[in-house]
Amino acid sequence: MKPARILLVEDNHLNRELASDLLRVAGFEVVEAETGEVALAQAGLAVPDLILLDIRLPGMDGFEVMNRLRRYARLATVPVVALTAQAMEGDREIALVAGFRGYITKPINTRTFVQEVMSHLRSQPGPDGGGTQDQVHD
Ligand code: MN
Repeated sequence: MKPARILLVEDNHLNRELASDLLRVAGFEVVEAETGEVALAQAGLAVPDLILLDIRLPGMDGFEVMNRLRRYARLATVPVVALTAQAMEGDREIALVAGFRGYITKPINTRTFVQEVMSHLRSQPGPDGGGTQDQVHD
């Protein structure tokens, strides 16, 4: 099976390297971007299965990147998870309203990060628009 491709958008080098290492070790294909502009270009080249998007970015911020992603039919259904700093309480509420699938708080918890990412991947409809919906078992 092809590994899921994750687009990781984070301007802080250390944060990006840590998240990227954790995801690669877990078997994901990771594409990194340090600005929103680069992220949009990367997403256009190869549609990711999930986007992890830092809210606080130089230039275009995460909300603006989100708005632009939603304008492209091919990208509109890709789940986007916000990366928000612990201090930025307001970002989380705004993120959920803005259409983010969820958020992951930074600094990331190295023990739970991969599981958090996987939980957002699993809630994603299949590429045909609904073939692999979550099965709910009690
Ligand atoms: Mn940032």
